[in-house]
Amino acid sequence: MELHYLTIAQARELLDRRELSSVELTQALLDRIAASEPSLHAYLTITADAALASAAAADQVIAAGQAGPLTGIPAGIKDVICTQGVRTTCASRILENFVPPFDATLVARLKAAGMVMLGKHNMDEFAMGSSTENSAFGPTHNPWDLKAIPGGSSGGSAASVAAGSAFFAVGTDTGGSIRQPASHCGVVGLKPTYGRVSRLGLVAFASSLDQAGPFARSVADLAEVLQVIAGHDPADSTSSPAPVPDYRAALGRGVKGLRLGLPKEFFAAGLDPEVETAVKAALATLEGLGAELVEVSLPHSDYGLAVYYIIAPAECSSNLARFDGVKYGLSLRSERGSLLDMYLDTRSQGFGPEVIRRIMLGTYALSAGYYDAYYGKAGQVRTLIRRDFAQAFAQCDAIVSPVAPTPAFDLGQKVDDPVQMYLSDIFTLSCNLAGLPGMSLPCGFSQGGRPIGLQLLGPHFAEETLLAIGHAFQGVTDHHAQRPAL
Ligand code: GLN
Repeated sequence: MELHYLTIAQARELLDRRELSSVELTQALLDRIAASEPSLHAYLTITADAALASAAAADQVIAAGQAGPLTGIPAGIKDVICTQGVRTTCASRILENFVPPFDATLVARLKAAGMVMLGKHNMDEFAMGSSTENSAFGPTHNPWDLKAIPGGSSGGSAASVAAGSAFFAVGTDTGGSIRQPASHCGVVGLKPTYGRVSRLGLVAFASSLDQAGPFARSVADLAEVLQVIAGHDPADSTSSPAPVPDYRAALGRGVKGLRLGLPKEFFAAGLDPEVETAVKAALATLEGLGAELVEVSLPHSDYGLAVYYIIAPAECSSNLARFDGVKYGLSLRSERGSLLDMYLDTRSQGFGPEVIRRIMLGTYALSAGYYDAYYGKAGQVRTLIRRDFAQAFAQCDAIVSPVAPTPAFDLGQKVDDPVQMYLSDIFTLSCNLAGLPGMSLPCGFSQGGRPIGLQLLGPHFAEETLLAIGHAFQGVTDHHAQRPAL
């Protein structure tokens, strides 16, 4: 039996029956990490000793009969999420040696629930990118095909869950960074409703768009993680006080009678034929399960990319101003240099090219005389996009679409063409602009054996609907049960 590919429920049963200890399970995962990391590079930091110590503590909790669903289950955390005493780099030189003095709220909740943290996952620098090639410490490779990108920015998280070097992971999604890598690595990823999961302790990229969420190999596993991390945090003023429903209970609801909306703008030219075939087959499966397919329209979809690439860089230029060589991380000071020299040296050497591009775009968009024309206008169009979704959800319970226009492309293929790279997120970023929940789940493979994902979008706080649809789909398909030959 391959311990690293158990479901959380299977591992839970073995742990609770004391047929397996969390220390043994954690050691199996550390062995898997040792075997897979040379080819994948999904982790930036591996905390083996701390993991074994928390596994031993989890074993005590289990022995005392006090285990919860995640007690003793090993997982990884994206390196943009603060972990007390464990280096949190954001895959950037500027934070290469930054050790946070506190845990992000979601990490504290997972630890309280008994998670065993294995380490920190690789990502695009400051979560800016779609391929993990913007990591200052080298890219992650896709476990299904080492020549391919794993997607991004949470590429390390998706690759690791697919490869069995973590049972689950938590990443962040600002414009697609959970859903797109989940799609490319053949795992499930959920971006919750904006405000559903606390942002306290996420290193901010674009504050009005950022949201943390789980990766897992099945929808049922994912629900367990969401259950722990969702909920109000008085220390995050944007976190929602709405009560957290029982996500496990939602799994069995089925899709009978649900209306699924197909946005006609998302099935237009430019969609890879293999992606289209896999998504259409998934739609037929859902129809067979009793869902009704209806066409909907999101008329302002064409503006999504432009709006995102004003708002996200504008917010990023403001958020990243704090990395100045004084307060955090890298600090390049010369004997005779001025304060300005320190800022310039630290920031020009500490940030990579994509981050610098975003800061420049955002600073320009926010500058005097341009603010109204760019940021102000983008905000107005964002309202129209949000309204499109509200109108579509008057006609359907969830929206279904592809996650990405193509399967994973090759490493290096788009690094010199930022606009091509930005187009990877064409189907995912409007969800963030509208603050909606979105899920990606495996629905097929390309001829070349690269995974393809299906995207489900719901109204605000309709995570239960997405889980119900995803779980019903996984009950009659086995795309999610395929494993890469690594
Ligand atoms: N790929 C998009 C970007 O580069 C989205 C990133 C994300 O969701 N963090 O901004």
